[in-house]
Amino acid sequence: MVKKIRSSYIGRFAPSPTGPLHAGSLVAALASWLDAKAHDGQWLVRIEDVDTPRCVPGADHIILQQLAVCGLHPDAPPIYQSQRGHLYQQALNQLVAQAQAYPCSCSRLDIEQAIAAAGQQRARHAELVYPGTCRGGLNGKQARSWRFLSTFQPSNGPSGQQIRRRADPELIAHEIHWVDRLSGQQHQNVSREVGDFVLQRADGLWAYQLAVVVDDAAQGVTHIVRGADLAHNTARQILLQRALGLPQAHYLHTPVVLGADGDKLSKQNGAQAVDLQDPLEALAQAGQHLGITCFASNPADWLQQAVAQWMVRLVARSGALKLHCD
Ligand code: GLU
Repeated sequence: MVKKIRSSYIGRFAPSPTGPLHAGSLVAALASWLDAKAHDGQWLVRIEDVDTPRCVPGADHIILQQLAVCGLHPDAPPIYQSQRGHLYQQALNQLVAQAQAYPCSCSRLDIEQAIAAAGQQRARHAELVYPGTCRGGLNGKQARSWRFLSTFQPSNGPSGQQIRRRADPELIAHEIHWVDRLSGQQHQNVSREVGDFVLQRADGLWAYQLAVVVDDAAQGVTHIVRGADLAHNTARQILLQRALGLPQAHYLHTPVVLGADGDKLSKQNGAQAVDLQDPLEALAQAGQHLGITCFASNPADWLQQAVAQWMVRLVARSGALKLHCD
């Protein structure tokens, strides 16, 4: 029996209820569960239903059922982001009071036109880097959204904060550094590569970046394990954690499952929903993607073997995924 590593660990799986789980999303669920259990930690489930137009009624129940038949049981009742708007509002208020959030009147078209007018080229599929049009004020226009001020501006905020922020070398450099437990050292210059990102959208809905940071901290999440398609959000989330005075989580991004067309597996390129009748097959497929092979006749036995394999990997830092313990 391999010795358990640590127990102050809280992990989570945070699906958006836009449809049932498929092979790709089960990988993230399984990896986050395995990492939590290998650390003798808790595993939570949070339904990320802030983007209501994209949510499919009933998908939350199907997801919870799919997790349950696979033996992935959360250690506390799932929470729903749609019921937590007051916490996101508090966080936004705090950022406004710190002069780290400002109202913006720009539509997507305004932003595209401002970028074109500045003669900047944008690679296809690249993020639209907000050019900072409303930083200086709305010029009499109507506020549509709220944005995070991604650069340090000595002229903003009460003087105490200026000194504190000026003293933080990473904020002055606008460059966020972190270690991904699988991919190693990472960095991103948020102001240059993303720009001032949205906290509350023009339609009044809370942006994923703010909601995820507020909830991870409120739930005491110490370790975030999720698909690599979300890795590019990490720097923004660390920036928000720092601005809100919240602890920084540890990150691990698992390799994305690709569809036949080479794009991330999704409903559009043929992903099948995890079959409630055949959870062992679903676990085997997800496990295979994580380099885990188990021989079991039921999900509970399969998971027990899988945790043992994950633990060996954490200790040995070897195998298909070289994981770091923290
Ligand atoms: N709700 C996000 C998604 O389903 C995941 C958020 C996260 O794990 O940080 O893509």
